[in-house]
Amino acid sequence: MTFAKGRGYLAIPGPSVMPEEVLRAMHRTAPNIYEGDLVEMVAGMIPDLRRVARTEGHVAIYISNGHGAWEAALSNVLAPGETMLVLATGRFGHGWADMARGLGIELQVLDFGLRDPIDLDQLETTLRADTAHKIRAITVTHVDTATSRRNDVAAVSALRDAVGHPALVMADCIASLACDRFEMDDWGADVMVGASQKGLMVPPGLGFVFFNDRAALQRAGMERVSRYWDWVPRSQPQFFYNYFGGTAPTHHLFGLRAALDMLMAEGMEAVWARHAGLARAIWAACDAWGREGALKLNINDPGARSHAVTAAGLPTPMGTRLRDWVEAHAGLTLGIGLGMAEPGSPEYHGYFRMGHMGHIDATMVLGMLGAVDAGLKALDIPHGQDALGAATKVIAASV
Ligand SMILES: *Cc1c(COP(=O)(O)O)cnc(C)c1O
Repeated sequence: MTFAKGRGYLAIPGPSVMPEEVLRAMHRTAPNIYEGDLVEMVAGMIPDLRRVARTEGHVAIYISNGHGAWEAALSNVLAPGETMLVLATGRFGHGWADMARGLGIELQVLDFGLRDPIDLDQLETTLRADTAHKIRAITVTHVDTATSRRNDVAAVSALRDAVGHPALVMADCIASLACDRFEMDDWGADVMVGASQKGLMVPPGLGFVFFNDRAALQRAGMERVSRYWDWVPRSQPQFFYNYFGGTAPTHHLFGLRAALDMLMAEGMEAVWARHAGLARAIWAACDAWGREGALKLNINDPGARSHAVTAAGLPTPMGTRLRDWVEAHAGLTLGIGLGMAEPGSPEYHGYFRMGHMGHIDATMVLGMLGAVDAGLKALDIPHGQDALGAATKVIAASV
């Protein structure tokens, strides 16, 4: 028999669960793209996007996934042959770096591995050694979706300022935006990239690049920027089509409007607190499972864990077997272990991830934990008891 016939739960780190409000907003006939509702709605969305990102800066929207937002951001501030410093704490720092490589940008990479934080001493040494100021930008992944490490973007900017280095700080918030607290202006990020399909609860297809005046100045000094990626017309549109460099992503925009309404009604502080509390419940369950068992969270320091995604390990191949079990028997889809081991290697099957970004509540998270608990039992994977009790205790104590 199977218990998987119900409303399936996609608990992977993006795309995330879509709210009914978003689905309903998208279910409509095609709108006029020259005047009327759509045109008025988009102008009103820009201030709300800024509120989500905590910036007074500018925003350019692209019809793209996160990779497109990565390329868009790089294209505006780094010319071929210029140098970018990459701070990698998992897979996604290398992903952004690879987009830069494709644009002919020179790379300097500080790789801190899959479990360790950014070493600020190493960063300081690197910036001080760059007396000619060849490094034009520093990229940092706010939340690395593979390792579930959350990096201290404010510390990177503060160090850059303390050293007196002019490089832009560019943050990848694709996983974390509207899940983990991010204060673009206060934390000194000059450029930030996001995408629609994670904390913003909209299908994949919209990329966002937020940037401040410092970054705009660096853009102004570029010899050329590809017309399509250029953030100038998109952020200061003369005509409606300038926002999107062509036809607007009509239905995604209606979905995004609904999602922003939900975020604004809840309030960003409350959104972040909800994600933080649900993440703590997940960690409490994982700690309980791990106490007499083999389940291990990837990031030891709770202060450096994402509130949007949790990476965990089991003795191989139990990561894959657990994922298969909960999908087949409980209607729960967990994320694969990404970047922790080579696909195809035996170790690859020792990891999995829980996505908890966006439209999630305590019932969903406790359901996910319950399904994982059942899977551990069904597969005879050694695990500590009362993980659900540990999680419900966190929920009960947090309200
Ligand atoms: C998902 C993600 C990306 C890539 O986004 P795509 O939409 O898959 O191109 C980049 N960075 C981070 C941190 C992500 O979580």
